[in-house]
Amino acid sequence: MRFVTLRNGARVPALGLGTWVMGERRGSRSAEIKALQLGIDLGMTLIDTAEMYGEGGAEEVVGEAIAGRRDTVFVVSKVYPHNASRDGAVAACERSLRRLRIDTLDLYLLHWRGSIPLAETVEAFEKLKADGKIRAWGVSNFDPADMTELSMVAPEGACVANQVLYHLGSRGIEWDLLPETGAQGIAVMAYSPLGQGRILSDPVLKAMAANRGIAAATLALGWVLRHDNVIAIPKAAKLDHVRANAAAADLTLDAAELAALDEAFPPPGRATPLEMI
Ligand code: NDP
Repeated sequence: MRFVTLRNGARVPALGLGTWVMGERRGSRSAEIKALQLGIDLGMTLIDTAEMYGEGGAEEVVGEAIAGRRDTVFVVSKVYPHNASRDGAVAACERSLRRLRIDTLDLYLLHWRGSIPLAETVEAFEKLKADGKIRAWGVSNFDPADMTELSMVAPEGACVANQVLYHLGSRGIEWDLLPETGAQGIAVMAYSPLGQGRILSDPVLKAMAANRGIAAATLALGWVLRHDNVIAIPKAAKLDHVRANAAAADLTLDAAELAALDEAFPPPGRATPLEMI
């Protein structure tokens, strides 16, 4: 497993676990918990969740999955933009902590930009940090202009990560956001790194993976992880999927494979608006 050291000194695995759509149905709960626990056992010890997912349900699933092993995991959650006010973010964080059954979040992100001034959200995040409720904070779905605006209101070095859409079929961030955030030491967390499962039926990807004797998902994630400052957070509720994803931690793609993937999934030739889900 490759590790990424965040600006606050935390060392996190480059491959973690997503939780969107978890905690929405009672009947799926035990399978979701088992999938997260297998992922942790296989070294994917960073778990990404949000108050939005299942309206708190995903955080409860994570809470159950990590019970008794809190110290082995790095827990990331996100605040809704409409809750990201000076007092609202503090209250939202406390609700998340209760659902997760932990005392401190390792990383707390603003899910996307809303109408509350960034300075107010930053103030709330800094208060949560000073009070020991979160260890670090970051943002999500911020484009380069948003990052510049943030840098004007945030203490130097305070924002440690920007979580954005990144997979073979969506490479726009390679043009500007990825190099710019990398130069500032801000980690990029790649969400939907499997294109929500849709890119896995691509014939080129499938053929290349078959050639290697690996799953298409393993190859797609190995490709995302070729950057030093990128963390991928695939979501998988099926155990076989978790195993295939974990295998990407040991994968290195050669120049010919990278070239073939560039041909099938061309890199950006100009700046494009940040894509988001
Ligand atoms: P992913 O790209 O991770 O794809 C998830 C889908 O792919 C699921 O249907 C899953 O099926 C399937 N899958 C997973 N592994 C495999 C495999 N090895 N082989 C075949 N299929 C597989 O999409 P997500 O949108 O879930 O993104 C990942 C995480 O990123 C989210 O869960 C969330 O934590 C975060 N996120 C953040 C956003 C933001 O705005 N900040 C937006 C979107 C996502 P199954 O579950 O049945 O195993």
